[in-house]
Formats: sequence, C-alpha cells, structure tokens
Amino acid sequence: MSELETLLRSKIKGQLLFAKEIETKYLTDFVGARVGTADAYVKALDEEDVKNTLVIANSTRTPVVVRGAGTNLTGSTIPEGGIVLDVSGMNRILNLDEETLTVTVEAGVLLKDLIEYVEARGYLYAPDPAEKNASIGGNVSTNAGGMRAVKYGVTRNYVLALDMYKIDGTKVHLGATTYKYSTGLNLQQLLVGSEGTLGVITKIVLKLLPLPEFTLNAVLAYDSLATGIKNVNVIFNSHLDPTAIEFVEKKVIALGEKFLNKQFPCQEAKSYLIVTLDGNKESVYERFEKLKNVVKANGAIDVIPLDDENVAKDIWAVRGAIARAVNASGMWEPVDIVVPINRITDFVSYVDTVTTSGGPRIVAFGHAGDGNVHLCVLKDDIADDLWPKVLHETMEKLYRKSYELGGVISGEHGVGKGKRDFLLQNMTSEQRDLMVGVKKAFDPNNLLNPHSGYAL
Ligand SMILES: Cc1cc2nc3c(=O)[nH]c(=O)nc-3n(C[C@H](O)[C@H](O)[C@H](O)COP(=O)(O)OP(=O)(O)OC[C@H]3O[C@@H](n4cnc5c(N)ncnc54)[C@H](O)[C@@H]3O)c2cc1C
Repeated sequence: MSELETLLRSKIKGQLLFAKEIETKYLTDFVGARVGTADAYVKALDEEDVKNTLVIANSTRTPVVVRGAGTNLTGSTIPEGGIVLDVSGMNRILNLDEETLTVTVEAGVLLKDLIEYVEARGYLYAPDPAEKNASIGGNVSTNAGGMRAVKYGVTRNYVLALDMYKIDGTKVHLGATTYKYSTGLNLQQLLVGSEGTLGVITKIVLKLLPLPEFTLNAVLAYDSLATGIKNVNVIFNSHLDPTAIEFVEKKVIALGEKFLNKQFPCQEAKSYLIVTLDGNKESVYERFEKLKNVVKANGAIDVIPLDDENVAKDIWAVRGAIARAVNASGMWEPVDIVVPINRITDFVSYVDTVTTSGGPRIVAFGHAGDGNVHLCVLKDDIADDLWPKVLHETMEKLYRKSYELGGVISGEHGVGKGKRDFLLQNMTSEQRDLMVGVKKAFDPNNLLNPHSGYAL
C-alpha cells in the first residue's frame, strides 16, 4: 500500500477508491472526450474529510483536483495523477434567512435543488446557467453565467461570503452577510471563478431576490441572424428591461428539436431571439407591446408571446438541449467566447468564414444580451488523427478574432485545460505575474488543479 493510501485510509470517513478502482466518470468532464488518471478518489463526507485530504495532499506534495457535479465543459476536472476530491456529497441547504434575504448552502448542493427550495418560499436565486445539475460550488468556482445575466448579472453578483480550505488544511471565512463590502481586498470574489486553483469551497452565503410576480417569454422570428442580432441593441435602447435575450439560428434549433421531439414556432424563420420580461404583470404586458412594435419596425417577421407556461418550458427546453444534442451526436469542442455586444454579428460572420474556408462545421448560438457566443466545433467525419491539429488551428483563429474584437476566450465556462494555452498566449506578462503571485499566496506548491486555468 502506498503512503498516500495508508494516510487517506487512516483519516477519511467518506468513500475512498484507489488507482484502477476509480470509475472513468470521476476522471473526466461533461464532454468525456479526455479521461485522466488519479491515484486516489475521495468523496468527502464533511469538512473534516476535506481538511484531512488537503493536509495529506500537502504533506505528500500530491496534486488535488476538486470536483463538484463534473458538468464543466473545459476539462477542469480531468486529473493528471494525484487525488480527486469530490465534494458533491456535501449537499445540504443550511439556512434561508428571510431577514437578510440570503441562503447558506454547502458547496455540493445542486442548482436545481436550490432553485426549487427558494422558489417554493417565494424567492429568486437569479443566476440561471442552463445546466441545472451543476453544483453551487462549481457555479461559484467557474463564475457561471446563464440566460438571466442581462438583467441580474452572474453568479459572482450573488456570492456574499464563503468558507474555504487552503491546501494546508486551514479554514478561512471570507466576506460577510452584507450587500456591500469595501473592507480590504475582496477575497471572497477572488475565489469566484478560480476553478479550484486557490482553495476548496465548502460553504457559501448567497443573496436572494423576491420572486418576480410575473414572467413572460417571447420568441422573435427573423429572416437572418444579422437582423436578429441588430435588434438586441434596439431592444436595449427602448428601455424594456429584458431579463434574457438569447439568439439561435434555425439550423441550430433543429438539433434541439430533433433531440427532444418538440417544435419551435414560425418554422420559416432563419433565426430567433428568445426574450424574457419579468416584473409586475401589467408592466410586463406594457413592455411586451412596446417590444412587439419596436422589433416589427426593425425587421422581425413574427413575435410570438409564450402565454402558455408549458409552451414556454418547451421552448427553453429545446434551447437548453442544444449542447446535449451536440454531445450525443459525436465529438465536439465547446467554446464560450464573449465579445462586446455590438460585435456579435462580426464574430458570428467570421465563424461562418472559418467553416466556408475549409474549416470544420461550427454551430453558433448564445446569450445575445451579453455577447456570450456559444460555439460547438464539430468533428463530423474529420479523421481521428487530423482532428487535434484541425481543432487547434480552428481555436487559434476563433480566439485571435475574439481578442481582435475586444472580447475574451471565456464568458462563463472558465479556462480549465482546454483553453489554458490560449489564455497563457494572450496574457501580458504583467497580468500573468499578478495571477501567479495570487496563486502562490494561496497554494505555494501549486498542488490545487495545477494543470488547469492559469495555474503554473
Ligand atoms: C448542457 C450544459 C449546459 C451548460 N450551460 C451553462 C451555462 O448556461 N452557463 C454556464 O456558466 N455554464 C454552463 N455549463 C457549464 C457547467 O455546468 C458550469 O461550468 C458549472 O458551473 C460547473 O459546475 P459543477 O458542479 O459541474 O463543477 P465541476 O464541473 O465539478 O467543476 C468545475 C470547476 O470548479 C471547480 N470546483 C468545483 N467545486 C468546487 C469547490 N467546492 N471548491 C473549489 N473548486 C471547485 C473544479 O475543480 C473545476 O475546476 C453547462 C454545461 C452543460 C453540460
């Protein structure tokens, strides 16, 4: 028995697996195209398990990959040896405080369970990433975005405080249950989006909002993607206060339709915007009438309000199924470039030229209201031995273009393994030095997710 195994067996109460016993599902990400290796898998039962795992990892200089629900699309939970520390079993909702409008959860709570819990009590947890089986710890660690970012912001905007463990096993509480915080460096926010490279988050205090009285979704149909995207600015400048504005081309929606056997309205359209409005019922309908007039005057061929809750659910289900449909159809690379909202059309047109000039097929859809363009680069029948080169060249072109347009390589999924080289290439040495300095302050021996993100 190795020293690592002996130490873990003597201290850990939760499930333990070693080397070949570790199932593949714990060694990969959602895409599953790449599978790593690990010496040990620890399913932490509680904070003591987290602390003891880290103390052992630190003393034996063993790398640790933290794992929530494993739904990331970036390879960030693919280990290269060492320990996989799974915190998904720490999944209790600890307290909903109606006086401070906050909810305190353990990191492994699933987004879908949190949503159900708070909505049943009249509250809204506003961040809305499409994958509801992700954990809140994972959402915080990737600063997950989602559909409602246009009005409500992203996960970062709802994290007030958290508990984390450093690699030496020290517990640190960061932030406070307050809506404002100008008290030294905002360390709790530094953990947001850190992809398991700074510490292990075990508990989080999240801000809640009162549940809006009424929500209305509408599908806006267009005869081209460009006209649809141009309408985003029109909608913003009409002061309609949209909650979400998603764009999707007909050819892309067809993938979700086929996958779920459900249909989008206005089949003759070439592209759609899906717009959500929420608030007081009267004001929502007033804004909807204004929306209808304004977009019809700007090229929309149809505007369909989704008054029936079940139809609205179907529409969002089809939109939400695109990534799953692509995943089921073969090998692909997920991309979530973000550009300034006035450059979405330029970026999507460029994507088309990458394909038409001999590149792979690329499917584009995304969050039109915040410039976050989701691409699926599809392998199709490109030979296995050519695919890594084709993919690398394609990604270089796409990332270069995103920077040229004032964007960055990830709006919400994070860097992980997949985008690491591109991030390192596109950082200035000053930015890199600062990131390395922060990493060293938290994790001097580079043991936490050392192969992911900016960690060096
Ligand atoms: C179909 C589909 C749709 C998606 N849609 C969206 C979307 O709309 N918006 C969006 O932002 N993302 C989306 N994602 C990506 C994914 O769901 C998010 O990145 C999510 O936040 C990952 O959470 P997780 O619990 O699965 O984390 P994991 O995949 O387990 O881990 C992700 C990263 O966080 C780290 N981590 C996890 N838990 C902790 C912890 N407790 N402490 C420290 N580090 C930790 C891991 O080490 C890793 O680096 C989608 C994914 C799929 C499959």
